[in-house]
Amino acid sequence: MTVASDSQTIFDYLQSLQSDSTRQLDLENSDVPFKVYVFKQKRGDLVVLPPRSYFQRSFKGTTASLYWSTLTIEGLRYAVFYDLYKRQRLCLPAKHPIRQLAYDILCSRFVKLEGSDKALSRSAAVEMRQLLEVVDEILRAEAYTNDEEIPNFRTTVAPLSCAFCGGEVFQKVFSCRKRCLREGSIDSISICPSCYVDGRTCLCGDMTPFRLQPMAPMVASRNRIAIWLRTHSKAALLSDDSGDDETTENLHDVEELPSSGIEDAIFLAALLLCLARDDKKSSITRTCTIRKGQRSHTTQGYALLNCKNCHASRCYEHILSTLNIHSAQAILVYYTAQSPSEAWHKHHVDLRQDYLKSYSTLLSNMLSGSYHPLNHRLAYFAHHFSATDPVSKNTLRGFYDGDMIAVSKFSPSYLTHYIVSGW
Ligand SMILES: [Zn+2]
Ligand SMILES: [Zn+2]
Ligand SMILES: [Zn+2]
Ligand SMILES: [Zn+2]
Repeated sequence: MTVASDSQTIFDYLQSLQSDSTRQLDLENSDVPFKVYVFKQKRGDLVVLPPRSYFQRSFKGTTASLYWSTLTIEGLRYAVFYDLYKRQRLCLPAKHPIRQLAYDILCSRFVKLEGSDKALSRSAAVEMRQLLEVVDEILRAEAYTNDEEIPNFRTTVAPLSCAFCGGEVFQKVFSCRKRCLREGSIDSISICPSCYVDGRTCLCGDMTPFRLQPMAPMVASRNRIAIWLRTHSKAALLSDDSGDDETTENLHDVEELPSSGIEDAIFLAALLLCLARDDKKSSITRTCTIRKGQRSHTTQGYALLNCKNCHASRCYEHILSTLNIHSAQAILVYYTAQSPSEAWHKHHVDLRQDYLKSYSTLLSNMLSGSYHPLNHRLAYFAHHFSATDPVSKNTLRGFYDGDMIAVSKFSPSYLTHYIVSGW
């Protein structure tokens, strides 16, 4: 077994072997770049593995074993803040509907706490606030002002998963308008908002958004919990003798969540990209100038943004590689502004060093599973991971999956150079 702090090293090692996490390694005859702990289990022993531990078992003779998984708040935070996005980029299918699970855990804990005669304890208050932070990110990602205008989705598949990454489809999905079908199914190809905003689509690329159910009741329940927590947790958090615990200080204030907004709004960004693709002008081929004096390449109109101040258009792939800005953030800034080009110019100039400045904090937050601004996490995972094997063959790769780089005929080392140097 291994320790949690080595999980990224092990993941990278398995990637370098092109192996998944289910393959048994020959640990006795090979050097591995991480520490392996061995425990000889006797009959009746209960072995508790730490969260994010990789493990393998070897048996001698006839054995019967029993095991189960538990999800801690710490594990849940890591899963939602980091692992979900990594798996989405790499197309590793979801093992559990983690977003739904997080929401259900928050609601069920609240019911227990609200019905209890005891005062809220400090540890329960901290955990509820941490849970709320996770659920807030999940809800913000899929919230939309005119949610009722999004048609309801009908499907024969349950639970529904993304046809590109295999991840959980939570409340919103993009489905083919024509007849791109999922293999072995009568259902159209459906893709999660995270994949869609990364430029991934069905083969024909003509997709439209749907909702699985109205979001308003979920947001209302979340807000009811937040109001209760705000009232009850202050006394609980101050009741501790230390009073200055880092965990408490790092918790965000409990505020009501609006049913819309553009912060972390992945679905809204995907919807705006969908509208841009639907625009007739989007099929016109345009030139991405990358940077002044550098080579250029052509791409479709929807896949780039124009900056009048810079006299340049840049595709999402090169916006990431030169500015460290993910398509979701760029789209939200550009398409929600009164003056898109000015807003975009101000944003990319003001924040040109933002990602690199917070890079070491991002890595340490990733290691501990702590919150870090979503736009940096999205940029990080798009930089580092691309799809090797989409779930369905009836799909097209996105901005960061390699195909569009092939169009531009630039080597990865060229792109890496600009990741470091910025605009
Ligand atoms: Zn997906
Ligand atoms: Zn299609
Ligand atoms: Zn480009
Ligand atoms: Zn500019």
